[in-house]
Amino acid sequence: MTTQETSGKYVYLFNDFDEAMARFDGEWDGVRGLLGGKGANLLDATRLGIPVPPGFTVTTEACNDYLDAGETFPEGLWEQSLQAIASLESMTGKKFGSAENPLLVSCRSGARFSMPGMMDTILNIGLNDEIVEILATRTHRPRFAYDIYRRLVQMFGGVVMGVPDEVFEAVITAQRRESKARADSDLDAGAWKAVTVRFKEIIRTYTGKEFPNDPYEQLKQATEAVFKSWNGKRAIDYREAAGIEHNLGTAVNIQTMVFGNIGDDSATGVFMSRNATTGEPQLEGDYLINAQGEDVVAGTRTTLRIGQLKDDMPEMFEELEQIAHLLEEHHRNMQDMEFTIEQGKLWLLQTRDGKRTAQAEVRIAVDMVGEGLISREEAVARVHPDQVDFFLHPQLDPEALLDIKAIASGLNVSPGAAVGVIAFDPDLAERWAREEGKDVILVRPETRPDDVHGMLAAKGVVTSKGGRTSHAALVARQFGKPAVVGVEEIEIDLDNHLMHIGEDLVIEEGESLSIDGNHGLIYYADLPTVVPDIQNAYLLKILAWADEFRTLGVRANADYPDDAQRARDYGAEGIGLCRTEHMFFAEERLPIMQRMITASSPTERAEAIAGLLPMQRSDFEGLFRAMEGQPVIIRLLDPPLHEFLPSAHDLMLELTDLKLRMQHLSSLKEMDNVLEEIEAKTKLLERVETLAESNPMLGTRGVRLGMLIPGLYKMQVRAIFEAACRCAVDGLDVHPEVMIPLVSHVGELESMNGPLKEVAEKVMAEHGIEVPQMFGTMIEIPRAALTAGEIAQTAEFFSFGTNDLTQTTYGISRDDAETGFLVHYLQTRLLKDNPFTSIDPEGVGRLMQIAIDEGKASRDNLEIGVCGEHGGDPKSIHLCHKLGVDYVSCSPFRVPIARLAAAQAALAD
Ligand code: PEP
Ligand code: MG
Repeated sequence: MTTQETSGKYVYLFNDFDEAMARFDGEWDGVRGLLGGKGANLLDATRLGIPVPPGFTVTTEACNDYLDAGETFPEGLWEQSLQAIASLESMTGKKFGSAENPLLVSCRSGARFSMPGMMDTILNIGLNDEIVEILATRTHRPRFAYDIYRRLVQMFGGVVMGVPDEVFEAVITAQRRESKARADSDLDAGAWKAVTVRFKEIIRTYTGKEFPNDPYEQLKQATEAVFKSWNGKRAIDYREAAGIEHNLGTAVNIQTMVFGNIGDDSATGVFMSRNATTGEPQLEGDYLINAQGEDVVAGTRTTLRIGQLKDDMPEMFEELEQIAHLLEEHHRNMQDMEFTIEQGKLWLLQTRDGKRTAQAEVRIAVDMVGEGLISREEAVARVHPDQVDFFLHPQLDPEALLDIKAIASGLNVSPGAAVGVIAFDPDLAERWAREEGKDVILVRPETRPDDVHGMLAAKGVVTSKGGRTSHAALVARQFGKPAVVGVEEIEIDLDNHLMHIGEDLVIEEGESLSIDGNHGLIYYADLPTVVPDIQNAYLLKILAWADEFRTLGVRANADYPDDAQRARDYGAEGIGLCRTEHMFFAEERLPIMQRMITASSPTERAEAIAGLLPMQRSDFEGLFRAMEGQPVIIRLLDPPLHEFLPSAHDLMLELTDLKLRMQHLSSLKEMDNVLEEIEAKTKLLERVETLAESNPMLGTRGVRLGMLIPGLYKMQVRAIFEAACRCAVDGLDVHPEVMIPLVSHVGELESMNGPLKEVAEKVMAEHGIEVPQMFGTMIEIPRAALTAGEIAQTAEFFSFGTNDLTQTTYGISRDDAETGFLVHYLQTRLLKDNPFTSIDPEGVGRLMQIAIDEGKASRDNLEIGVCGEHGGDPKSIHLCHKLGVDYVSCSPFRVPIARLAAAQAALAD
């Protein structure tokens, strides 16, 4: 809201709820924006008849006007605050600034979203040297009076006047020593009085200013300090990181003080309406008898569990239960509350929706449906997709993380925790894991297809280079291996089997490392993990409801039968992408693949291709069996060649080594062997150099390879249909869909489709059986999207390869994306989201829209999917739903997340 629209009313009493609501035509969000979360909830609770100490809220508009005017109070604000104080006086029968029966207040910030970095709290405003004296005498509680006074001076000195709190704490520690007191609670009135005198001296020396003796001046300065804290560095940094707008401003809550430290009939505590860890429906929290609020959180005294209050003060406990129940019903959410009991009278100081773990979130959502508090739709909308992720992977034990700091951070590309010993070499990783039963973390500068055996054997993967769609990220996600990539702080010295982090830390191969793939963090320790459970009954219920609401299908990207089975267990409705080149990662297959690529004669190539056929056939058969009754999209080979070949540099090094070795050999037979090896490697090097491309990602891959080596795709189609027919003969319901990658011109598809369909027909005729099938294409080049109408005349389905489509639309290399300028773009917020994580709606999304519209215009029943990494990203799933995509396809481990996100997209419609 702009200043022009403000009504000039800057201050709302806690019992002005109806007036605030009326201003926004009953829109709660408007009230929250004006009064902040804390203020809005306090006004609301007051209206519900809950005992809230009287108070008032200074609006976020007041804050914005104050800041806009160069830190001066806008007209009317101070007068309205004074009026509000007068109202509090008449409600409480006390008087602000009077020594007789002083009204004391607290001052707290309260933005629309709860925000670390904002000014927290100042208690006991309204005391000064004279008032405290009389209060001590009149109440006959001098210790209490001087203790609360020193708290005011300490908090005010710290928060408003900027003196570091450590200095005040040092004074208290010294005083304890002098008074021979073990704890603060052993210090008497005289001690606190002396401490306060010293605090004031410190304030004077540090700031050159006096602690204000005038209560009104205290109130004014405290209010200003809250306003200013909106523009404090920590608050700005937080807003930057959390994507909160900078123009919202904060409200200020001024509330009558109530005291939990007046005696043994007083207490203070914090509690939740349900267990925030497990979600169980019972009060959870802590309290202290005879204490002030901060003592509970400070941890200086051992707190009591809230259940104990039932014995200590049964009536108070019952009242707390009633309040919790009332507020839950009202907010239809679990509440996090603060209370104080002052001489047998209960007061609620604050309520807000409680933070909770993923387990608690799903349980509470399901329980609340059972209790009739929320609908199933709301329950599904409430659980954040990331919270589902939690159930799919082991996590580092949160307790263990309290005492340790990460040594480095990178991109959180594959969630879950992994703990193990470091191996810098994939063969070693495999050996340690397989033969010695060790848990291993594979640490590499980056990974390549011939590292996959090491990745599979490892518990987790770390790379120092690479982005979200790097090979390491892709493979790790696919196999559910926790991974952190692009950890720039790590320098790996492969020759000496070491890694360096910064100047001082050197870690050797074999030492322990723990990684947190959820947050992209690395710990130099062997940390304990906890394993949540995907079979959690509450989660299954949420996902079952999600399936009822969603209209978008969810398939999986899976290359192996095990993956496919897992995807199915997680609720996938088919395979949206089988990357056949991944089937050649296995150690014994890679050489055949290399031979196929580097063959120098048609015969040599035909032999290699024929060698691949039986392997492919059995792979596909496994997939079809695992996905019985569901569609399986098999993409024909799409290898950027460089991914499958040794690098020229490595080959040259090997050749130099071999030549050196020759000089030291003594047996002729050995010499012959080495000579033979040199000859073979030289030949390979020549081929690698001939095939080398400057931009392999834009080179001979996908259908282009198919065009150059027609036998290759024909072999794959034969393998697919032989496998399908074998399954069909056994009575299985199979649905192969053949997908051609990297098409940019309809001509490519036209010349491929005929011969490939012929092969399929031939194989089916050989087996005497027909299987339902489709031939389609990936849309991953802008030209394909722009000519989708033509392409759809040949293609029976489209699947958007949004990884390549993003790469080619933006002109940003998907492999280097997270290391250079893109980081700068994201940091400076030129881009809101990384386009390789969430589909860029204006560019890539627009191309998708064109392709969908024109594709469907050509072919009514065109099936349209998305199989890039975006298929598992909730934001992209929302976009896909809007664009009218039929299904998304993602890694098996993201299938449950995609189911939930798809339901949320449908519900948001
Ligand atoms: C894509 O480009 O989005 C895709 C799914 O194919 P790949 O990642 O294998 O290039
Ligand atoms: Mg692609």
